[in-house]
Amino acid sequence: MTNSTTPLLPEIAEIWQQTLNWQPTTQQQAKFQQLYELILEGNTQLNLTRITEPQEFWEKHLWDSLRGIVLEKQFIPSLPEGASVIDIGTGAGFPGIPVGIIAPNSTVTLLDSTRKKITFIDKVLATLGLSNCKTLLGRTEEIGQQTQHRQTYDLALIRAVGTASVCAEYSLPLLKQGGLAVIYRGTWTEEETIALQNAVKLLGGEIESIAQFTTPLTDSIRHCLYLRKVATTPPEFPRAVGIPHQKPL
Ligand code: SAM
Repeated sequence: MTNSTTPLLPEIAEIWQQTLNWQPTTQQQAKFQQLYELILEGNTQLNLTRITEPQEFWEKHLWDSLRGIVLEKQFIPSLPEGASVIDIGTGAGFPGIPVGIIAPNSTVTLLDSTRKKITFIDKVLATLGLSNCKTLLGRTEEIGQQTQHRQTYDLALIRAVGTASVCAEYSLPLLKQGGLAVIYRGTWTEEETIALQNAVKLLGGEIESIAQFTTPLTDSIRHCLYLRKVATTPPEFPRAVGIPHQKPL
């Protein structure tokens, strides 16, 4: 049920089709709208996001979240088959909640260190009936050392949480061998790729590809880095809370 006071999100099925080779079902579109309404409502109490206009929300939260999980014009193959996904530093639920909406066979763990955000997301998941998504409260540096989480995920998503080497140290320990980390970035340069290579290697990964794209409504530049886990991550990673950020690899 939509709230009559909230603006409607754009539907623009043809943009989904042209850019992601996919369109949401009516039910998925309804869930996107419900998510938008819950975030606007949550924003009155919590500082969840500055992005509140419908077009901007559609582009920067929904489209951007899903663009990151498209490789070679289709969703990452493990997703429809039931991947185990973790969204590290999910905040108000991005990119993890849109991913959970479009990949009902996958299990999506939404990790954040802020209790208020996790409480908010629990409410969103219950309202949207997203039984394939669950929350996890904690610091990635600690979660990555716990046997029930370490080396257990097929896909790790991380957007707006730190520099690329910090994101690599947060995500690679959580992946199974063969798993993939997606690091969402704005701008990115060749020099940054060269600087990141050593850190990724130390963590048991390799930079598989880097995608550059422009967002469909405002033509803003985005990049996604795809890191493949190719070897076991040495036990010292991730380092203790705060160290990846203070002493980047
Ligand atoms: N990923 C969301 C997005 O792109 O809209 C939220 C980004 S927000 C800028 C960063 C989030 O990461 C915050 O909610 C913060 O609590 C969380 N965070 C930062 N460091 C973290 C850590 N070490 N472990 C878990 N969560 C962390």
